[in-house]
Amino acid sequence: MVESGAQEFIPPEADTIDELRAAAAGCRGCELYRDASQTVFGRGDEHARVVLVGEQPGDVEDQKGLPFVGPAGRLLRRAVDDAGLDPGQLYLTNAVKHFRFELRGTRRIHQTPDRVHITACRPWLVAEFARLRPEVVVVLGATAAKALLGPTFRVTRQRGELLPWPAAAQHPEDFARVPVDRTGAVADAPDTRLLATIHPSAVLRADNQDVAYEGLVADLTVAAGALR
Ligand code: SF4
Repeated sequence: MVESGAQEFIPPEADTIDELRAAAAGCRGCELYRDASQTVFGRGDEHARVVLVGEQPGDVEDQKGLPFVGPAGRLLRRAVDDAGLDPGQLYLTNAVKHFRFELRGTRRIHQTPDRVHITACRPWLVAEFARLRPEVVVVLGATAAKALLGPTFRVTRQRGELLPWPAAAQHPEDFARVPVDRTGAVADAPDTRLLATIHPSAVLRADNQDVAYEGLVADLTVAAGALR
């Protein structure tokens, strides 16, 4: 079977995130589904005021089928609390929905998704954003930034800055208008802003974890301050 991206697995009549999640369970848009346990789709309130986009599920997420439930997810939850964001108003997702890893003995070691995986999986992200209406989009780390903002965006250079969304996206037209019903009617996307920061796993890998954690919290605090 030729794996040509996620688009053909997205039912055009899917109105809700739950319907998308159900369809994503059967995605074969790239080879990552073969070794991973299951698709890990986004979770949270469809009416969330803040959407956080990470890289890909990790080992724990792959086993549980939920994003951000491993060590990096625990750290992110603490940072969200410290930044004053209401966890009940978040939607959490990843740029790539299957776990990419390398087997070393019995251990599954995380591997960063390649551009081909990011591109293959991007239609799910576009479909999620067509159904979400956040006030702020938080991009966590380089992979999510590449998926949404293109390969030239540097998180290190522009982290913590509020940017216009979708104007800052690589293909703003993908996010500028959103379907509103099954007849195919569309509306202009809501007035949303975007902020990039590091991935919580980068805090866990940092030489000075305290400083890295404070940086993450500072960026999330900017996102919290942008809520109307
Ligand atoms: S990583 Fe994305 S595109 Fe690839 S099989 Fe999984 S859901 Fe489909």
